[in-house]
Amino acid sequence: MGEIVCVANQKGGVGKTTTSVNLSYALACLGQEVLLVDFDPQSNASSGLGIILKDDEKSVYHLLTRTAAFKDIVRQSSHELLDVLPASKDLAGAEVELVNLPGREKVLREALSTVKKMYDFIIIDCPPSLSLLTINALVAADSVISPIQCEYYAMEGLAHFINTTGKVKQFLSPQLKVDGGILTMYDARMNLANQVKDEISKFYGDKVYKTPIPRNIRLAEAPSFGQSIFEYDPSCRGTRAYLDLAVEFLERRGAKPGDYKDYQYSAGIKADFDFGG
Ligand code: ATP
Ligand code: MG
Repeated sequence: MGEIVCVANQKGGVGKTTTSVNLSYALACLGQEVLLVDFDPQSNASSGLGIILKDDEKSVYHLLTRTAAFKDIVRQSSHELLDVLPASKDLAGAEVELVNLPGREKVLREALSTVKKMYDFIIIDCPPSLSLLTINALVAADSVISPIQCEYYAMEGLAHFINTTGKVKQFLSPQLKVDGGILTMYDARMNLANQVKDEISKFYGDKVYKTPIPRNIRLAEAPSFGQSIFEYDPSCRGTRAYLDLAVEFLERRGAKPGDYKDYQYSAGIKADFDFGG
């Protein structure tokens, strides 16, 4: 059975989509079968992997409303082990349509229940809100990770988010595990970044990932080419960070240190991988 991992933080622009896309791609490079679910009407995760739907093409909205089958919606990314359930603007409307349904918080969970066994990991990219969509993602998930931008306002809303996650766990989804926080856009030269790191550690304790994601312009450029960082610039710091993050993610789930020692040479990554950038 695959693990469903929700990438969430109600704060906008903190690196949820960048993390969902590149963590998913990194896991695929490490031999994992991954489904990335774009669960944000902005569709950034889909377009960030070069998937832009035409008006008549089916999206995750159709899965939620049971108007299309999974096999008719899912797309393969440029990596053979990474599939994508793309989003479209319709998804914003799904929220209104779901509101009066009994069991409205469990619609995504039910929709994914039959495909869970096909993948090692299903990663859900959430919108920047604590809306019914995010609640559906949390209820569907086995674990949740939150990207946290290293800036002054990072802590704002974090307590609220952790509180909501706690309530979802208590009332709707006892299996939900808080996997932890990931520091994004980290600049070790800034005192502020280190202060934020310390503050976040107070919330998450040792659940903060040891691998911070540095601020790296290549990570910001890649989506406009419809590419993950691994295709756009396999030798930049952002690529290395997301690979290290994926290894840490797998080690938390029982992989042994060293299992992925030669990971830079595994499927999809160029053999001349050079970590200099
Ligand atoms: P939203 O809440 O709107 O869904 P988000 O949390 O998904 O946003 P992203 O879209 O991943 O955040 O990132 C916000 C912006 O910051 C994007 O322009 C992205 O390219 C850029 N960005 C993300 N991570 C980094 C990084 N490590 N270094 C530089 N730029 C980054
Ligand atoms: Mg996003």
